Amino acid sequence: MATPRCLACRLFRVRGWTHSPRAAAAAAVSIGSAAAWLGSSIRNKIYFPPSRDETICDETILARALPDAHPDTVRVRRVAADIVAAAREDKVFGHRRLSERTGHRLVHDINWRVHVIDDDTWIRAFSTYNGEIVVFTGLLKRYCRKDGHLATMLGHEVAHAIARHMQREFTKRFYVRVLANFIEELLHAPVDGILQAVWVSLFMRPCLFSQELEADRAGIMLQAAAGYDPCDAPAFFKAHEPYEDLSNQYAPARTHPTCKRRVQELMREHVLGEAMKVFGQAVE
Ligand SMILES: [Zn+2]
Repeated sequence: MATPRCLACRLFRVRGWTHSPRAAAAAAVSIGSAAAWLGSSIRNKIYFPPSRDETICDETILARALPDAHPDTVRVRRVAADIVAAAREDKVFGHRRLSERTGHRLVHDINWRVHVIDDDTWIRAFSTYNGEIVVFTGLLKRYCRKDGHLATMLGHEVAHAIARHMQREFTKRFYVRVLANFIEELLHAPVDGILQAVWVSLFMRPCLFSQELEADRAGIMLQAAAGYDPCDAPAFFKAHEPYEDLSNQYAPARTHPTCKRRVQELMREHVLGEAMKVFGQAVE
């Protein structure tokens, strides 16, 4: 009958160091946490949503959504519809399809829904894997007075969804948690919430930063194809710069690159230059 020690040897196919109670415990903790996390993911319907129409947004947030007929809701939905329509059409610009330029094809079974939340204290927006885009009036009033700036923000959020960033992030977080458990067991460190959070933040940070920059690059192509001036994209992030809190830019919990870095990436010739070509053809 297999003991935990032999099970560890068989699973990791390494002799010597796995023949110890500590390694067996590490394997047991890792496998156990993996199973628990996967079980809770399935339970929370992260990987297997029962319906494309079901909301995964917090109901207390949605309770503060502006009515459908409110001018802010109408405006945000109009620009979002332009962005999604451009992605769906997937037109050829300069011998390359829009999907090649963004690096991602539109996922056709996404049910796009836009919620504008009446909260001026929140300067943010986010999107979910199943096509919900949530925009807070704080962001709208402060940085999106011009439709071009609104198109930048919405292009970014649509890009997150079609690039399946949320799914990729959950998958990576899963592996990082397993790895963190394993290392902590080997080092005989206490497995507590604070240490776990630090491990996850350190390993996840490069992934989150690259996803944000990817959404910026894809988003500027989407806004250009929808007929919104791509020059508004770097201008949108430049407007954020004076208000950005840089005191914690090296903190492990930071999930977004600085605005300065985002502007630099957007201004590159292969990004803004290409987007300008797409824009020129989209509006001619
Ligand atoms: Zn983002």
